[in-house]
Amino acid sequence: SATAAPDYIDVLIIGAGPAGLMLANWLGRCGVKTRIVDKRGSKIYNGQADGLQCRTLEIFDSFGFADQAWKESNHMLEICFWNPDEQGRLRRSGRIPDTIPGISRFQQVVLHQGRIERFFLDSIKEHSDISVERGVLPTEFSFDDAKAADFEDYPISVTLRTLSEEEAAPPQQQQHHRSSTGRETVSDGLFRSNLAADDTNELIQAAEKRNRVDQVELVKAKFLIGCDGAHSWVRRQLGYVLEGDSTDYIWGVLDIIPITDFPDIRQRCAIHSASHGSVMVIPRENKLVRLYIQLQATEHETGGRKADRSWITPEVILQSAQRILHPYKLDYTYCDWWTGYQIGQRVGNEFSLKERVFLAGDAVHTHSPKAGQGMNVSMQDTYNLGWKIAHVVKGYSDGSILKTYQTERRQIALDLIEFDHRFSRLFSGRPAKDILDEEGVSMEEFQAAFEKGNEFASGTAVDYGPSILVAKTDKSHENIVSKSNLATGVLVGKRMPSFKVLNQSDARPWHLQELLPSTGRWRLLVFPGDLTNPETKQRFGNLGEKLGARDSFIRRFTPPSQPVDSVIEVLTVHAGPRISIELQDLPAAFHPYDEKLGWDYWKVFVDDQSYHEGHGQAYAKYGINPAHGASVIVRPDQYVSWVGEMDNYEEMAGFFSGFMKEQTNTKSEE
Ligand code: FAD
Repeated sequence: SATAAPDYIDVLIIGAGPAGLMLANWLGRCGVKTRIVDKRGSKIYNGQADGLQCRTLEIFDSFGFADQAWKESNHMLEICFWNPDEQGRLRRSGRIPDTIPGISRFQQVVLHQGRIERFFLDSIKEHSDISVERGVLPTEFSFDDAKAADFEDYPISVTLRTLSEEEAAPPQQQQHHRSSTGRETVSDGLFRSNLAADDTNELIQAAEKRNRVDQVELVKAKFLIGCDGAHSWVRRQLGYVLEGDSTDYIWGVLDIIPITDFPDIRQRCAIHSASHGSVMVIPRENKLVRLYIQLQATEHETGGRKADRSWITPEVILQSAQRILHPYKLDYTYCDWWTGYQIGQRVGNEFSLKERVFLAGDAVHTHSPKAGQGMNVSMQDTYNLGWKIAHVVKGYSDGSILKTYQTERRQIALDLIEFDHRFSRLFSGRPAKDILDEEGVSMEEFQAAFEKGNEFASGTAVDYGPSILVAKTDKSHENIVSKSNLATGVLVGKRMPSFKVLNQSDARPWHLQELLPSTGRWRLLVFPGDLTNPETKQRFGNLGEKLGARDSFIRRFTPPSQPVDSVIEVLTVHAGPRISIELQDLPAAFHPYDEKLGWDYWKVFVDDQSYHEGHGQAYAKYGINPAHGASVIVRPDQYVSWVGEMDNYEEMAGFFSGFMKEQTNTKSEE
């Protein structure tokens, strides 16, 4: 093993797929000492997952790269349903919007995983000194239980080994071949597919056999995160398992430029044939179209053996699609990518070891690709986890907040599997011939389920349960209970919805979510109501005085050397009119003064008519009465923690006191 002194770091991430990259990005923004390794020598370039939920785009926007994804991606606006009619002839039976209108300021789009990973890599490079160490994998893990309770200690030891170039390069990558039919195939995704047997053990053996001292390193970490996909090595070290169905389904995925007379090829379509199965059509960027076909179900095999995949070829997938689409024609000369994809519906029994080792993404949940959830839910796992780890490492918060990772995300994974089960049965079943055909699937039921599932699939339905971080209305959080009637459009546990408001100082319209970038800060959103009303102004003034006091909770929980808004930022949205209010008349707590930078003009906003973009009607949409007001505490990941009286300082302080640490020492100023 390693001879050099160990490297002491805060966080070690195994795996640089969507989950690992999201985490590295978050931790980098928060200044946490992080390393991220991946056994593969290069990133992926095409294929794999491609669907981006609107919630994922909101998250990308909070990191500053949603606009790029939005521009490059294909936008999916409509879903069409195709089914056999009474004569068995395929016809369009319905259309619905792909994204429920009004649910988000973004709509669902598709863009391949390689581009998404690239956005993260660029963002990580721009905002931190973290870089993905490729061709590196962990070979040994040990955990010192005695150190688990002290969050400043390093209970985790991991040996890392660097692979040779050939070992790190997956076979079959970028093979360019022309098949017997003259169709061109650029690359297949089998090398990274779980249909190919996992090669981690072989890689470890090869690296250990070579045993070159300069390629072995011991790392000591406070936290270890397994973002290493469905075969997760980290999960195996912990002895945790995925639980669920024992059946795996084999999916064929084909990315082609289609040559066809099928009229809806540029729409997302769910097509059921009378007796040849079903296909999902996903129109993509660069003239591509993706076809998803469920080819077969297998009993799940244990011990790493996998179903025979030799028969899965682009031709087989194409021929299935041709049979389903009959009498329409479908062919191609250009195929960008294809794969066979074997998947069951399973969830990890545990997501964490003592809140020091965590699992995220495919390492703890697997399910069918139909609803386009895999990549999204995986990234959202680590979006949930990143800021919590950062706050514990920096000493802002008690380690207890980390327990909410499992309570919040395991529930999401279970919901996802439940959704996938329901959806799979409806998608893969044969259409019912009539109402007496009990084995068949009613197409009305399918469409209804699809519409209902759409909110879930958008990612905006996520609703975290009560905890020290979420003070629900019914269950108490250390006696703190949200008052939902004060803001009926703001749901505690869900992400803060976004409407347009204007900057008080320069009249520029902003979507409220744009004011909540992922910087690691908590936000206190104060909606005082109409400040021309003397009583409202008085209440607002009293709150300002308390928040601005030397011993306010904001001061107590912020390291003395840091700006006052660096841990908890106060943002105000008053009810207008803008021109009746002067920023300088408002208490300084709402627009802090800095000796070098002057007043902060980016903290006070108004719900008013803009010059060019209409009126956001934020108070009406948040369900806040301008004559009464409300305050909202929003987590660093934009989820709502608490809704209460606008000036209830004591409850705000009580909420934060439940898990935040007084900043008297210099711990977090390093
Ligand atoms: P992954 O993306 O699997 O990333 C894991 C990373 O960890 C990889 O880079 C891997 O090299 C690395 N790694 C693994 N083991 C080790 C180790 N021991 N040491 C170091 N590094 C390691 N989802 C959809 O929504 N739609 C799709 O069409 C779709 N198609 C897919 C096709 C294929 C072939 C595959 C494999 C997956 C597909 N998915 C699809 C699923 C989607 O890609 C995943 O849900 C998503 O990538 C999960 O992200 P992740 O970061 O958790 O894991």
